[in-house]
Amino acid sequence: MSESTYNNLEVMRKFSEVYAKRTGTFFCSEISITAVVIEGLAKHKDQYGSALCPCRHYEDKSKEVMNSYWNCPCVPMRERKECHCMLFLNPDSEFAGQNQVIESTVLLQKISESK
Ligand code: SF4
Repeated sequence: MSESTYNNLEVMRKFSEVYAKRTGTFFCSEISITAVVIEGLAKHKDQYGSALCPCRHYEDKSKEVMNSYWNCPCVPMRERKECHCMLFLNPDSEFAGQNQVIESTVLLQKISESK
């Protein structure tokens, strides 16, 4: 992992913690899902300068970044608290865990396990 990707991983990890607390949402009980989504956001931030949602297919990622609709937090999340990546889950979701925090070491470990 490059230093830049690592730095963006930290940026997106911290963003995810702050945003979960602010919106009253929780990370998935299966924390490897959280880790893989944060990694996807960090890679997009690294490559395109914006944290484009990693759970969608795009014809042209640069164009989507300019469009901003799917830049995290995306419009469905901001308007209706809908995160189809399962990064931010409402407390009544059957997949929601108890955590709004993910430690750097846990994040890196889960990412490496997913390879
Ligand atoms: Fe972020 Fe929206 Fe993707 Fe969830 S669905 S990770 S809030 S961009």
